Amino acid sequence: MKSVFPGTVSTHGRPATLGVMGGGQLGRMFVHAAQRLGYATVVLDPDAQSPAGMVSHQHVITPHGDEAGLQQLAGLCDAVTTEFENVPAAALRTLAMTLPVAPGAACVAMAQNRIEEKAHFTACADVSGVSVAPYAVIETPAQLQSVPANLLPGILKTARMGYDGKGQMRVKNAAELAAAWAALKQVPCVLEKLMPLKAECSVIVARGFDGSVVSFAPQRNVHVDGVLAVTHAYPSNMPEDQSKRAQDATESIARQINYVGVLCVEFFMVDDGSEHGGLIVNEMAPRPHNSGHYTMDACDVSQFDLQVHAMAGLPLPQPRQHSPAIMLNLLGDVGFDSNGQPRTPDWQAVLSLPGTHLHLYGKLDARPGRKMGHLNITGADADAVMTVARQAADVLGLPGLDA
Ligand code: ATP
Ligand code: MG
Repeated sequence: MKSVFPGTVSTHGRPATLGVMGGGQLGRMFVHAAQRLGYATVVLDPDAQSPAGMVSHQHVITPHGDEAGLQQLAGLCDAVTTEFENVPAAALRTLAMTLPVAPGAACVAMAQNRIEEKAHFTACADVSGVSVAPYAVIETPAQLQSVPANLLPGILKTARMGYDGKGQMRVKNAAELAAAWAALKQVPCVLEKLMPLKAECSVIVARGFDGSVVSFAPQRNVHVDGVLAVTHAYPSNMPEDQSKRAQDATESIARQINYVGVLCVEFFMVDDGSEHGGLIVNEMAPRPHNSGHYTMDACDVSQFDLQVHAMAGLPLPQPRQHSPAIMLNLLGDVGFDSNGQPRTPDWQAVLSLPGTHLHLYGKLDARPGRKMGHLNITGADADAVMTVARQAADVLGLPGLDA
């Protein structure tokens, strides 16, 4: 692919322009990274007030699959990426007919479907050295009937459209499983064995059109109610051997599907003898990830910088983390007191703590559970970062820090 260098004027007489499908916070942070390099940006999203659309040079306001909108985006851009997982793969295919698109439609389609995703992880297991949790595909009543008993208790997950723990039901026995599948309207699902998690981690890699790969060290993640609450990013955050295995596995998962762009792979760390060597691959996201937001303040190159470099065909610098970090996710809940009354968080107190970096996404409507921003905390060492994180979490009433 021909590189799209920043600061150039294209044959259309406009500055080099990068586009993004989707207008959420990930798109907003991508737009900021692209603009810093001098690119013009275009966001395609139906919401006129979308976090990314509000900060982009141009905003195509149509549904994501709209033919006219896609034509307009293609006409304005030199390369396109995506910021949300459920972007219609067909839209990426349409765009790819006229310009570079990263990640490609086939990889995104695979990440959108847990059945295909798990099949890929399983096919990679010999090379990646990491396998998936035991599972069964449930698409028919016959498959429901023949689920092996050792998968229970388990978690029934819809094959498509799941995020932040949505589209999932925990089931203890066959009767609950049948009821859960009925409640999920008998759409294609996977039943996964409930694993004894010791911890969770994720790895972010970037791969270029030329096949070069760089990655960040694994970060340890704490979820509360199925949503990411805290990310720990410092060398002692998890055992070294597991850290290396997770990083190697992620790079090989990206290589084997010829992935281009930023990819995040989530892992479970388990304590189950050694059948899985303590590490299980959960799922992948074909884009920057909430668990990589610390890279914005703790690394010399962020996950969004790498997204820009990969899609534009620029060299991929190996990122270097210069500070230990903790990220605290800020959900809409911070905008309410313990009686459910709206409040303004005490930013004065938070911002007077050393090493705090506040990122808000420009969303005006603070609903509980809605991702409104995040707070990165950097410091000289992990203990210093943890001390400040505790203070910030106290002020804001944030959960998950002691898990
Ligand atoms: P997100 O988009 O936020 O990553 P998701 O809706 O795609 O979430 P998963 O990542 O599959 O869903 O699961 C959400 C969380 O539920 C996991 O991070 C983990 O805490 C828990 N979980 C999922 N599967 C299992 C399992 N098999 N055993 C134990 N816990 C699990
Ligand atoms: Mg997940």
